[in-house]
Amino acid sequence: MASDLETEVQAIDKSLLECSAEEVAVKWLQATDLPKEVYLHLAYYVPKIYCRGPNPAPQSEDMLAQHVLLGPMEWYLCGEDPAFGFPKLEQANKPSHLCGRVFKVGEPTYSCRDCAVDPTCVLCMECFLGSIHREHRYRMTTSGGGGFCDCGDTEAWKESPYCQKHELNTAETDPLVHLSEDMIARAYNIFAIMFQYAVDILTWEKENELPPGLETVNTSRQTKPLKVQVMHSSIVAHQSFGLKLLTWLGNVIGYSDGLRRILCQVGLQEGPDGENSSLVDKLMLSDSKLWKGARSVYHQLFMSSLLMDLKYKKLFAIRFTRNYERLQSDYVKDDHDREFSIADLSVQIFTVPSLARMLITEENLMTTIIKTFMDHLRHRDIQGRFQFERYTALQAFKFRRVQNLILDLKYVLISKPADWTNDLRQKFLEGFDAFLELLKCMQGMDPITRQVGQHIEMEPEWEAAFTLQMKLTQVISMMQDWCALDEKVLIEAYKKCLTVLMQCHSGFTDGEQPIVLGICGHSVETIRYCVSQEKVSIHLPVSRLLAGLHVSLSKSEVAYKFPEFLPLSELSPPLLIEHPLRCLVLCAQVHAGMWRRNGFSLVNQIYYYHNVKCRREMFDKDIIMLQTGVSMMDPNHFLMIMLSRFELYQIFSTPDYGKRFNTENTNKDVVQQNNTLIEEMLYLIIMIVGERFSPGVGQVNATDEIKREIIHQLSIRPMAHSELVKALPEDENKETGMESVIEAVACFKKPGLTGRGLYELKPECTKDFNLYFYHFSRAEQSKAEEAQRKLKRQNREDTALPPPVLPPLSPLFASLINILQSDVMLCIMGIILQWAVEHNSYAWSESMLQRVLHLIGMALQEEKQHLENLSEENVVTFTFTQKISRPGEAPSNSPSILAMLETLQNAPHLEVHKDMIRWILKTFNAIKKLRESSSTSPVPETEGNIIEEGSRDKDKAERKRKAEIARLRREKIMAQMSEMQRHFIDENKELFQQTLEELATSTSRVLDNSPTVSDTKLTALGPKQTKVTERRQVVTCILCQEEQEVKVDSRAMVLAAFVQRSTVLSKNRNKVIQDPEKYDPLFMHPELSCGTHTGSCGHIMHAHCWQRYFDAVQAKEQRRQQRLRVHTSYDVENGEFLCPLCECLSNTVIPLLPPPRGSFNRLDFSDQPNLAQWIRTISQQIKALYILRDEETANNSCGNSEKMDELQLPKGFRPDFQPKSLYSESIKEMLTTFGTATYKIGLKVHPNEEDPRVPIMCWGSCAYTIQTIERILADEDKPLFGHLPCRQDDCLTSLTRFAAAHWTISPLSSVQGHFCRLFASLVPNEKSGNLPCILDIDMFHLLVSLVLSFPAIYCQDFSGVSLGTGDLHIFHLVTMAHIVQILLTSSTEENGMDQENPNGEEEVAVLTLYKFLCQHTGRYTYITIVSLLLPPPILTGASQFKHLCSYLSLPNNLICLFQENGKIMNTLVESWCSDNEVKRYLEGKRQAISYARDSNKLIDLPDDYSCLINQASNFSCPKSGGDKSRAPTLCLVCGTMLCSQSYCCQTELEGEDVGACTAHTYVCGSGVGIFLRVRECQVLFLAGKTKGCFYAPPYLDDYGETDQGLRRGNPLHLCKERFKKIQKLWQQHSITEEIGHAQEANQTLVGIDWQHL
Ligand SMILES: [Zn+2]
Ligand SMILES: [Zn+2]
Ligand SMILES: [Zn+2]
Ligand SMILES: [Zn+2]
Ligand SMILES: [Zn+2]
Ligand SMILES: [Zn+2]
Ligand SMILES: [Zn+2]
Repeated sequence: MASDLETEVQAIDKSLLECSAEEVAVKWLQATDLPKEVYLHLAYYVPKIYCRGPNPAPQSEDMLAQHVLLGPMEWYLCGEDPAFGFPKLEQANKPSHLCGRVFKVGEPTYSCRDCAVDPTCVLCMECFLGSIHREHRYRMTTSGGGGFCDCGDTEAWKESPYCQKHELNTAETDPLVHLSEDMIARAYNIFAIMFQYAVDILTWEKENELPPGLETVNTSRQTKPLKVQVMHSSIVAHQSFGLKLLTWLGNVIGYSDGLRRILCQVGLQEGPDGENSSLVDKLMLSDSKLWKGARSVYHQLFMSSLLMDLKYKKLFAIRFTRNYERLQSDYVKDDHDREFSIADLSVQIFTVPSLARMLITEENLMTTIIKTFMDHLRHRDIQGRFQFERYTALQAFKFRRVQNLILDLKYVLISKPADWTNDLRQKFLEGFDAFLELLKCMQGMDPITRQVGQHIEMEPEWEAAFTLQMKLTQVISMMQDWCALDEKVLIEAYKKCLTVLMQCHSGFTDGEQPIVLGICGHSVETIRYCVSQEKVSIHLPVSRLLAGLHVSLSKSEVAYKFPEFLPLSELSPPLLIEHPLRCLVLCAQVHAGMWRRNGFSLVNQIYYYHNVKCRREMFDKDIIMLQTGVSMMDPNHFLMIMLSRFELYQIFSTPDYGKRFNTENTNKDVVQQNNTLIEEMLYLIIMIVGERFSPGVGQVNATDEIKREIIHQLSIRPMAHSELVKALPEDENKETGMESVIEAVACFKKPGLTGRGLYELKPECTKDFNLYFYHFSRAEQSKAEEAQRKLKRQNREDTALPPPVLPPLSPLFASLINILQSDVMLCIMGIILQWAVEHNSYAWSESMLQRVLHLIGMALQEEKQHLENLSEENVVTFTFTQKISRPGEAPSNSPSILAMLETLQNAPHLEVHKDMIRWILKTFNAIKKLRESSSTSPVPETEGNIIEEGSRDKDKAERKRKAEIARLRREKIMAQMSEMQRHFIDENKELFQQTLEELATSTSRVLDNSPTVSDTKLTALGPKQTKVTERRQVVTCILCQEEQEVKVDSRAMVLAAFVQRSTVLSKNRNKVIQDPEKYDPLFMHPELSCGTHTGSCGHIMHAHCWQRYFDAVQAKEQRRQQRLRVHTSYDVENGEFLCPLCECLSNTVIPLLPPPRGSFNRLDFSDQPNLAQWIRTISQQIKALYILRDEETANNSCGNSEKMDELQLPKGFRPDFQPKSLYSESIKEMLTTFGTATYKIGLKVHPNEEDPRVPIMCWGSCAYTIQTIERILADEDKPLFGHLPCRQDDCLTSLTRFAAAHWTISPLSSVQGHFCRLFASLVPNEKSGNLPCILDIDMFHLLVSLVLSFPAIYCQDFSGVSLGTGDLHIFHLVTMAHIVQILLTSSTEENGMDQENPNGEEEVAVLTLYKFLCQHTGRYTYITIVSLLLPPPILTGASQFKHLCSYLSLPNNLICLFQENGKIMNTLVESWCSDNEVKRYLEGKRQAISYARDSNKLIDLPDDYSCLINQASNFSCPKSGGDKSRAPTLCLVCGTMLCSQSYCCQTELEGEDVGACTAHTYVCGSGVGIFLRVRECQVLFLAGKTKGCFYAPPYLDDYGETDQGLRRGNPLHLCKERFKKIQKLWQQHSITEEIGHAQEANQTLVGIDWQHL
């Protein structure tokens, strides 16, 4: 079947390929009815190409479509071979100066914060780099796909709209002039037919019928299936081709702007059916019916055609606007995301200022948008307000989608008009009307009533209303900005807004009995209303808009210029303030705890009301409305209404109300509540008087406002740039305006290796600090107070925080200041001070008093200002000082406020407020003097009660004297104490010494009384070996605190240790151990592809204490995992635990041992064999062992054999001798424990302590760990024998001692076997078998293994040869082998080595290349068993090599080594070089590692982070055929880009699904990985499958902050120091440890599925 079909398809293909594009085109050119002709062609061929049964082959489809369908069109269009035609077109084209590059998902885009008209104006990377904006303040984001580069659009940029590339093409002509008449005609024809065809077929809705003209004229055999199906598949075929065609059109117009214009014209031409009948309209209107793929294809075409042609962009914008309502409704009902809807194009159209303006005036766009929006929010309450309470899921979904319309409104308003036409005014005000309608539906929505008795049952819905408010906030601000730009508009808008507000509150006094309030002889009529009993709403957008417009009236001075046009007489101040006041009272009552039963929804609402995202159009405007009210009415009336709304009227209008609290039966809660309300009310008055930093309220500008915000934020504490940005409101351009003023108020402190840069408040700015700044939260206020007082104390100033000097009010608001000197205010102040004087603990609170003092301070500042700025014609009407000096009137005869302050000054219970009271009195006196000096003003009558200057000075002096006495006393006590301390130490010297030592970082302690040997003279090896007295080492167990000496026969002490596989030194990351069970690790390859690293935190425990601890941890974790199924940061089943002291991740312990060879040492070298003799002896011993071994295996049963007799045992060699272990049982056990752990982890196998490879792995880990430490020291340019950090030193000492002792617990024969094979790699024997050549051996690993396994042979040697001799010879032998290795692998041309006869030339080469050698000998060769034998000398600088040689008993001239042992070395070198592999290498047939091996580094990162984003945006998932990866992640070790966190790239590892990163770690880092998540700008550490953490990236912005998640978009640059720190973590093998600490600190990290990343 399949093959049948295939042949059939092939046959069709063949017939199709015979069709000639040119011939078809010629036929078309001659046709009389071109559309019919073309349709016939399509009807015949399209189904043939696109209906190919079950196996579609997209590639051949494309090929055939190009050949049979598109080819003819191209021929027709060009009138010649398109291969020539298109290039000609392109050449003749004068391209548009627009870039128009359409963004891919994840592509970086740039916006200039200085020059972009709005934040949606962006550049592609290429344009950005070629533009001036790269030197401006720019923002970087990654595109979500869709949208295009705005380079060249003069309306998008305030300055420099062109990049270098696009500025060349600025000629503006009709693009059609570059085309011939013929070409234009042909283009019209073919575009019209093809576009029509594509639109018809894509919007075709009938399933069983084809559009007219396309009915199948099929005569082939395809009649077998049902007709319907044929139809259906034909439709699908035509649709596929339709999409192809649209893409093709997009490509073709790319050749010529003329063609583009023709296509636009074709698309927008109205069809026969009139309105909405153009092709573009048809497509748009069927948008929601199209499938996703079709949509993006035609959206792309629109973007590259209509939006790129300035003339047609305008026409298209009109079409779009006319269909706006329909398109939006379709979108709201649709279920695809916004980016797949045509509605999303609004951003491209509405953000163009000229288009937006045109659409407002000609198409009434504002009204359209708002009306459309309102139409979708139909759910209203009986008063016609929005109601979200019982929203269904569907409605909620629609609500979310409809919010995009607000965004459109924002786009339209974002650029403000410079000049207004009457049309614009009219249409804007029409839009404003619609907007007011919208706000009217919000005024008073979600009303709440205080819950008494029971707690509310269900939290009411509140989020929807706030979402709406939040989204509208910027629109409301922009509306005000627009109004403020034109006087006529402002006046009209003000009137309209007032009218609507009246409508909202008509009937607000209906049915209410007015009540009359009276205090101090003033009386006012108001309504009876209690916030705590009736409905109240937080949503008052109409009132707030009016407040905003009122400020604009003041700011633009319209209020003074045209008062006759303003409805000022219609304003009723009590009505204006009523609702904002209720809202503020609600906040106060919530704060006083009166609304607790209303649940969290209310708390949240109050929070957002004050929050930076909303406050500008909520809380701030309510304050302004109250300020407006006070400035327009009698302040006494205002205060009485306020008292009444705060439900405090009774308290202040009833004389002696306070005294009633004395009675026992008053409810404490009520008193508390009232106190809080009084505090809140005073706070509100402070705000009304003091908050004059909105331009228009006070005489300030926007800069002053933002400065003040910053000063107050920084008064709390120094802050990072991003913290400040978050605390400040953003405008519609996402700007806070902070950068322009920050320098003036703060200093920048750069960050260190961690943390971030901080801004600190300049000292001179602290004088502007206002403790009652209205944007402080309660917590911020108290923090700021504390910080500021502390600062004052540090500067030795008194700690009063008086109110700052304020800017003058604008004339429209000027009279509000009188509230401070109004009778009712003075009465309130007087009553509260009276309470404080009476010290009635019930009726008043300290913060109440503090606020009254602050208010008095404000009044004094005000009066002082007035006096200082006094000019001739002005009379000072502000006479606060006068009023507070007057005593109360006849009946009560209460003392004056001044008098009470004087009394309070000495009150013992008011210590904290003394400084403030003193400041008040001082200021009062200053004002008095000012008044006296100015003759024009009346002198305030003073009562004479003010404490005289002299007496206050006396008071001050007294305090100073007392302070001095206190200081002296303190010093004396300190002196006494330290004297006592000294005595105590003398008496308890030993004890004290001990504590000091306990405090030291390392718990290990060496008691050493021997004279220290000069470091540089030490020698580790050979005849001159320095004699070192053995030291006693006493250590303390961190678990039981007991001390113990480290001895061979005592209980074992252990160090917590972490063993891990490592590829840090690897020179070949592709090499993995294939079959670990069979792998032979005896020889390490110089590639070092996988080593075993051991690290330790250096903390010491008893082995048994550790055992007990570990068992307990294990038991606990098992219980916990069963119960809670939680992960921990460590894997108990794998033997992991945390060090009990420092919580460092560990997985085994290293036993602490004394120096191993003390007992063997013999330092007399006079009778010792030389190298040649020694090699001979060892060879004989080895031979003997081999024979013995063969015997044993061959004749297990029969004892003696003939060969045994043949065997001539070397002198003194007793292979039957079995040495006894010196170590205690407990130490032996620990030797096994650590050995097994190294074996298990290093080879990734099941633990098996019997395996002969165990000792090899121990030696390997020892060698590898030394190598890594040497590399780190070399990279940091530190001396080899400099002081290592304690923990590394302890770890290295124990590790080497352990490795040296390990043979004692292994079977002797197997260690001997290892030694024999190791030795044979240098000194071959007939039994050695298949060993690697010297090119393939890491000599340091070889040296360590040889030295550490040698005792296994030596212990049976009783000939009197010293072990030290063996060490020395092994070392010399390996050194020489390494020199040869280096010579062989050095570049051969350079050293002139004869390739054919290398061994003969060897010595000559060595001689001539001595200097070369000195440089190239990898230093690590020479550190050997040093830490076993001697404390190393400290070496520095250039003399290092010499010292090293003497330390290692090497001649300074290394060639002497060869000369001393000439004969034997000739033989050996010859045998090394005759190896087949070496020969192959010399013949160039294979590679070898050359020396010195460089340290591995992490990859190089670019300085500019956007390079990485760009790199990542070009990266597509390797598995899903070109799809963009969602989480491109870069391996910092090898530079591979991975497709992380995605199903497409999951693979199976050890039977589990893992993500690309985890899989990569197993290849690249043997389980450990360091990655950079490019989209997130975040470093990722992974270890194993379950461990991971995020780490701060090494990229910082100019403010010294990282941007994890790339949310802020500031330019990021590489911080080299931070990157080095990450590299060091890696080189030190601390990644796993870092993860452990991170996970311990943050438990949520444990729950993340790291393996899926
Ligand atoms: Zn561009
Ligand atoms: Zn450009
Ligand atoms: Zn710029
Ligand atoms: Zn212990
Ligand atoms: Zn520790
Ligand atoms: Zn890698
Ligand atoms: Zn993938």
